[in-house]
Amino acid sequence: MDVIHTVAELRARLKGEPSIALVPTMGNLHPGHLSLVEVAKRHGTRIVATIFVNRLQFEPGGDFDRYPRTLEHDCAALEEAGCHVVFAPGERELYPEPQDIRLTPPKSAEQLCGLFRPGHFEGVLTVVTKLFHIVAPHTAVFGAKDYQQLHVIRALERQLNFGIRIVAAPTVREPDGLAMSSRNGYLTREERAKAPQLQQNVRRIKDLIEGGRKDFDALLRGAVDDLTGAGWRVDYVALRNRSKLEAPVPGDRELVVLGAAWLGKTRLIDNLEVLATP
Ligand code: AMP
Repeated sequence: MDVIHTVAELRARLKGEPSIALVPTMGNLHPGHLSLVEVAKRHGTRIVATIFVNRLQFEPGGDFDRYPRTLEHDCAALEEAGCHVVFAPGERELYPEPQDIRLTPPKSAEQLCGLFRPGHFEGVLTVVTKLFHIVAPHTAVFGAKDYQQLHVIRALERQLNFGIRIVAAPTVREPDGLAMSSRNGYLTREERAKAPQLQQNVRRIKDLIEGGRKDFDALLRGAVDDLTGAGWRVDYVALRNRSKLEAPVPGDRELVVLGAAWLGKTRLIDNLEVLATP
């Protein structure tokens, strides 16, 4: 496996590769990230993972500085997983001049996490666009754990005609149901014990809707109340249709429940797709 730090070297390394599958990450890799590499192997013969903690997508006062950086461990895990090339640029390599050209996110990014993390999706779309241009992959794999991000990146790919196949990988969870995340490492022991409650609430809504309940607002409010009562600070628990990420209208069946909430200083997100009854 090659570990490459500059754009020029990466381009030289990948020149002429007929089947590149890209896995973009911010590092501090866990089995969820490595599952993306497994998915990538089904879609390409050259697997390129990127590791870059992208300052642009952290809101002011966010956790950019304390975000864990574990390059050596990450490279060992990626090699073991069968990755071929790691691109780990420094900040000045990716942003050699002020990045004042930014991507404007679509309407669907102005809600949910977009409401609570100003500038986040602008930063995500800008770095993903750069990585798409630098790596020129045929396929790119993103986790369904970041459901709105995946939705917004699909829009980016369509609206800017990248011609890259965007593949979604399912969320990998801890045995108690908590979605794996680099941010789980921030949790205290007490917070970690509570953390599965977000997923439990999302799952409960899914199960009730799949069982025929139509009182969506009451179900969502119930989850917010439950989490708040348990000591969480809830950003949102919401139901959307999968196609447009809009509030469902009667007849919409392919839905998704999404939640984002804080335990202490740590913000966790989760979601589950729902197939509503007719
Ligand atoms: P991050 O390093 O957090 O930016 O995540 C890099 C990629 O890994 C994104 O496409 C995430 O959606 C994906 N990812 C993160 N956690 C998980 C998980 N638990 N299961 C599947 N994919 C994940």
